[in-house]
Amino acid sequence: MNQVEKVNLLDFDRQGLRDFFAQLGEKPYRAEQVMKWIYHRLESNFENMTDVGKALRAKLEAACYVGPPNTLFDKGAADGTHKWLLGMDGGNAVEAVYIPEPTRGTLCVSSQVGCGLNCQFCSTATQGFNRNLATSEIIGQMWVAAKHLGNITHQNRRITNVVMMGMGEPLLNFDNVVKAMSLMRDDLGFGLASKRVTLSTAGLVPMIDKLSESIDVSLAVSLHAANDELRTELVPLNKRYPIAELLGACQRWIDRKPRTSITFEYTLMKGVNDQPEHARQLIKLMRKLPTCKVNLIPFNPFPGTRFERSDPDTIRAFQTQLLNANILTMLRRTRGDDIDAACGQLKGQVHDRTRRQEEFRKRLDEGEAHAA
Ligand code: SF4
Repeated sequence: MNQVEKVNLLDFDRQGLRDFFAQLGEKPYRAEQVMKWIYHRLESNFENMTDVGKALRAKLEAACYVGPPNTLFDKGAADGTHKWLLGMDGGNAVEAVYIPEPTRGTLCVSSQVGCGLNCQFCSTATQGFNRNLATSEIIGQMWVAAKHLGNITHQNRRITNVVMMGMGEPLLNFDNVVKAMSLMRDDLGFGLASKRVTLSTAGLVPMIDKLSESIDVSLAVSLHAANDELRTELVPLNKRYPIAELLGACQRWIDRKPRTSITFEYTLMKGVNDQPEHARQLIKLMRKLPTCKVNLIPFNPFPGTRFERSDPDTIRAFQTQLLNANILTMLRRTRGDDIDAACGQLKGQVHDRTRRQEEFRKRLDEGEAHAA
């Protein structure tokens, strides 16, 4: 049997691994033993799994492998931020980014090669969409980063938080993302608490409901505007699921998980959504969900974009307006500037199937890039 026909064990959650071991005629506890080697000790070579019997190791060698994505490139920034460019098949690549802070270390993980949702301020969107990532390619980003950082599950955690906020809309790759997040949460996987694993969505209303029934994780919503006209311009998905419907789904999420809060991400773009009237609209909206919080993100410009980052004074005034209205508001510090690691700047390498890059270049040629 060659490598192509073998099964990648990173594609299985705990139950899937138990089922696979059952197919091999092995007891379920053997699956759990191997799972600990994979995720706690970050071991990919069956030979080194010393408490697994020799016969089983040989059987595993013949039937499966532990296959994280290949690191094409990795780079660290002066502030400790680290970025990995990970190769996928067909010449595609996605990025994962690690952001250390004094009390935690957050890994930003991608869910798709490119993205089809076309948010206007997003670097990934300009590259178009190619395909969904497999579970092994999603959890594999964490596996590669954990190994690189010397992360030890339950002991020396370098990765304390994961955000599904990289390339792609995670809810459009629902099954693979949920399986990967269950490995992030599982005690035999990376063992992170539910509040430390966050899925960020542009607002796919039915899938938010489905997610709340499927797995216990935290939710973030990319809002970016508090009125439908502007939000539809910035996040075209808003046309399908306008703000009232989105808030309805958020309310149902909170009803099902009363002790949780939802984070609303709001990227501040100069003269677009950063004025006092926009803050007033946001306050009005947030009053409907009083336990939720706002995360303000200064826009990170990328080549060709028509948007600019808001001025520091405008950002401060916007935040103060929200805080004065008792809206819990955080301001994300821009990190990893020297390696393009900021939100919305994950580029990867996408063989576009949507011709999005072509359209973007055409718009640039027509001068739309400077229209703002
Ligand atoms: S912001 Fe997120 S959902 Fe929107 S295009 Fe970019 S990657 Fe896709």
